[in-house]
Amino acid sequence: MGIDEPLLERLTAEAIAKLKKLVENFKLGAITWTKFKARVVMILRGLYTEAMSAIQGAATLSAEEKRVLQEAINDQLYPGGGYSLEEVLEEYNSGAISVLMLTARLVLYLKSARLVVYKVARERDRLNEFYIRMLGATDQHCEECLAYTAMPPMRLSDIILPGQDCRCRSNCLCRLVKVPNRSFGWLS
Ligand SMILES: [Zn+2]
Ligand SMILES: [Zn+2]
Repeated sequence: MGIDEPLLERLTAEAIAKLKKLVENFKLGAITWTKFKARVVMILRGLYTEAMSAIQGAATLSAEEKRVLQEAINDQLYPGGGYSLEEVLEEYNSGAISVLMLTARLVLYLKSARLVVYKVARERDRLNEFYIRMLGATDQHCEECLAYTAMPPMRLSDIILPGQDCRCRSNCLCRLVKVPNRSFGWLS
C-alpha cells in the first residue's frame, strides 16, 4: 500500500487554510451561522474525498472503498460513535466553547483525513502483506504509539492504523511501513 504522504499533507494544509479563512469571515459577520456550518461540512467532505488521490494504485475507488469513505465521513459528521462535528458546532453555538477552541477542534477533524485514507487503502490492499508501525518525525509520542511500534509485523487488516486508538489522535505522525515477511526484525 503506497500512500503519497507529501500530497496528503499538502491537501490537508490547504483545507486548514480554507477553514481558517472561513472562520475569519464568520467572525467578521460576513456569513451567517447556517452558511458557516454548511461550508465547514463542504471543506471536510472535500478534503476526505480529495485525500483519496494520495492512495497509490487505481485512480477510482471501488464500490467497497466508496462505502468505507462514506461511512468514515458520516462518522465524523453525525452523532453516533465518537464526538461528531455536529456536536462540536452545537457546543460553539450554545456558548460552551470559544471560536478559538472551535477552530482547533475543526482542524483536528481535517487532520483525521489521514486515518480515513489509511482505512480506505486497507480495503484496497488485500494481499498477504505485512506492515510495521514506525514513529513519526516528532519527539512527542504517546504510550500507545510506542507500544504499537514495538509490535511484530501484521497484516493491514489487523494492524492499528496511525491515529487510531492512541492519545495523539489526529496529531499522530506514525507511519506504516511494508516489510518482507511476518517475522521481519522480530524472530530470526
Ligand atoms: Zn499516539
Ligand atoms: Zn503516533
